[in-house]
Amino acid sequence: MNYRHSFHAGNYADVLKHMVLIALIDAMKTKPTPFCYIDTHAGRGLYDLRGSEARKTAESDAGIGLLRNATGLPPLLWKLLETVKAAGGEGDDSLRVYPGSPWIATHLMRPDDSAQLCELQGDEAQALRQLFRSDARVHVHQRDGYEALKAMTPPKEKRGLVLIDPPFEAQDAEFRTIEKSLKSALERWPTGVYAVWYPVKLRSHVQPFHRWLTKCGARRVLVTEILLHPDDSPLRLNGTGLAIVNAPWKLDDTLRDSLRYLPKLLGKDRQAEYKLSWLVEEGQDEQPPHP
Ligand code: SAM
Repeated sequence: MNYRHSFHAGNYADVLKHMVLIALIDAMKTKPTPFCYIDTHAGRGLYDLRGSEARKTAESDAGIGLLRNATGLPPLLWKLLETVKAAGGEGDDSLRVYPGSPWIATHLMRPDDSAQLCELQGDEAQALRQLFRSDARVHVHQRDGYEALKAMTPPKEKRGLVLIDPPFEAQDAEFRTIEKSLKSALERWPTGVYAVWYPVKLRSHVQPFHRWLTKCGARRVLVTEILLHPDDSPLRLNGTGLAIVNAPWKLDDTLRDSLRYLPKLLGKDRQAEYKLSWLVEEGQDEQPPHP
């Protein structure tokens, strides 16, 4: 396992993923009962954007860096930018630090909500544990996130959100692992909200996953993507997407303005585009009885 997120933190894939994460946490907070946040592939929690690894790729310059001086940001992107600034400490307009999903989720959670964070790499897990050493809401586990998901679902709160954000080192095979893991999680906990991040390289690799999602038994599955290049080359990250299983009520409306804004901002001279569609859509006329 070679993947280190510090080379990629704050890139355009993180911008999409963390914007959606903020919308999902906000949706969980519309009900007063506590919820559990489970992060199966958590990373180290905070990333130094001035460190040698981040500077080597400079991916954040073409991601969160573009939001810094942007004008007219839609509310969700504005909230992401404010959250990133908060991670760097008071007045960090220079974005020297980028927060990972565990930091963003726990920053927005309430005192009675809880978080289970799984990270397999020893040094990343150690950094994560150190980061949350004095936050009693947060539990860090150095273990395989897919195995942990089996053990942790359903959570005692019975309401919650799972983020599945693997490094996709196994490329195509990672989709099959995700499907297996989601299938068993949905059997144990059919009302959980599950957000899965995926890379878009070849469209033919994504299509079987989407087909599987349409048959996974969930009542509502929303998919969103940002595409910077044609999805016909396996050699580069042409785009990035998230599939949200049991997506909250009106999540598509919450995301739409920010998704419309992103291609113009991120795409520069390229023909960038966004996608937002329901793979499974039920009960759109009525608010579902979400726990
Ligand atoms: N979710 C993080 C965020 O948004 O800030 C980024 C996670 S990064 C894309 C993927 C992480 O998963 C890496 O830190 C890697 O060490 C870890 N990892 C890889 N395989 C794993 C596994 N089987 N279980 C748990 N963590 C794993």
